Amino acid sequence: MKDDSITEGELWTDNDRISYIGPSVEKTDKTFDREIDCKGNLLMPGLKNAHTHSSMTFSRSLADEYCLDDWLHKAIFPREAKLNAESIYWFAKLAYADYLAGGITSCFDMYFEKEANAKAAVETGFRHVFCGAANDFGGMKELEGYYESLNNYDPLVSFIYGFHAEYTTCEENLKKISELAHKYEAPVFTHISETKAEVDGCIKRYGCTPAVLFDRLGIFDFGGGGFHCVWFTDEDRDIFKKRGLWSVFNACSNLKLASGITPVYKFIEKDMNIAIGTDGAGSNNALSMFREMYLDTVLSNVETHNAAAVDPFTILKAGTTGGALCMGLKDCDVLAEGKKADIIMIDMKKPSMQPENNIVRNIIYSADNSVVKMTMIDGKILYEGGRYSTLDMDEIIRECGRLQKDLV
Ligand SMILES: [Zn+2]
Repeated sequence: MKDDSITEGELWTDNDRISYIGPSVEKTDKTFDREIDCKGNLLMPGLKNAHTHSSMTFSRSLADEYCLDDWLHKAIFPREAKLNAESIYWFAKLAYADYLAGGITSCFDMYFEKEANAKAAVETGFRHVFCGAANDFGGMKELEGYYESLNNYDPLVSFIYGFHAEYTTCEENLKKISELAHKYEAPVFTHISETKAEVDGCIKRYGCTPAVLFDRLGIFDFGGGGFHCVWFTDEDRDIFKKRGLWSVFNACSNLKLASGITPVYKFIEKDMNIAIGTDGAGSNNALSMFREMYLDTVLSNVETHNAAAVDPFTILKAGTTGGALCMGLKDCDVLAEGKKADIIMIDMKKPSMQPENNIVRNIIYSADNSVVKMTMIDGKILYEGGRYSTLDMDEIIRECGRLQKDLV
C-alpha cells in the first residue's frame, strides 16, 4: 500500500500472522495445512469499515423517506428502544455476512448491547472495534466499564471511547467524556458536522462548531476523530490536521439522508488522516466499501469540475490502511511479514476487473462486492467462493426474520 504497484509472488500465513511475503519460493522445508494457487488473482489488505452501526441491519429499507432528524426520531429511536441482546446478536451476524462477502475484515461500530455483539464477533471470527455510544439517553455510566472489559475480552475485540453527537450530549456529559480521555490518555470518536442543522444548532448553543467545541473541552487531547465531517469549516479541518485526528467519510449515508456531500478533496489537499465507513444499513442501505470508495473518489468532481480531483489510490489507502490505523489496528494496515493475516482475494476473472489497464482504478471505479473471492481474518478463511465457514446464512435469515416482527 506504499504505492499502487502490484507484486507477483507468494504469501504465507502462520496462525494469525503473515509469515512471508515476497517472490515465489521454489523449495521450502515448511509444510502447510493448505496451499492456494491464486491463479493471477489479487491479494490485498482487507477493507476496513471505519464507521458503522452493525446491528442496524434490522432497519434496512424500513424508512427511506426521511432526512436525518425525522429518520432518527420517527423511524429509528422508537425501534431501537425495543432492541435487546438477542436481536443485537443476530442482526450483527447478518452484518458480518455482508461485511465478509464485501471483503471487509474489521469494523468500527457504535451501537448498544456490546456484550451480545462481542459474542457474535468472536463466534464469527470477525475483528470488531467498538466505539462508545454514550449520549444523554444512556451509555454514560457504562463507558469506563466497557473500556476495561471489552479491551480484555478477546484479541478480536477492542473498545475506543466515543459518544453519539454534540446534539444528543449535554456539556456536562461532554466534560465527563473529556475527563475519561485524560484519565486513560485515550482517543475519542463521535458523529460530527453530519448535517447543516447540527452545526447551526451547535453555533446557537455554544457559539462555535462541534469540532471547535470538542477541541476546547479537551476531548481530542489524546487523538480520535469524527464520522461524516460533511459540514466542516476550514477551521475545523485545521484543528483535525493539527491534532492528527481522523475524518471518516460516509458518502452513501450522507447522500441518502440528504445531509450533503463531503468535499473529500479538501481533506486530501491538507494531507489529513482519512478513513471510510458505510454507516448503518438503515441509512445507506448497502454495507459495501466498494460503493463508498467510488463515491469518495468521484463526488469531489462535481464541485471542482475536475475529473481528477481525487486520486483513486489515495481512497483505496483510506479504505484499507487508513481505516486500520483510525481504529487502532496498527497490525492490520498492510500486507507485510509480522502483520495480522487480514487479507482478501479479488477475483481478477470477473468482467468488472478486466482488462487490467489499471487494477487500482478497476477496484475503485468498476468493482463491487461480487469481485471478492476470499476473506481471511486473523489467519482464518471466513468466506470463500460465496460460502461462509463460521456463519449459517439460513439460520441468520430465519432468526432475523423472527426478531424483525417484534421490532417493526
Ligand atoms: Zn453513524
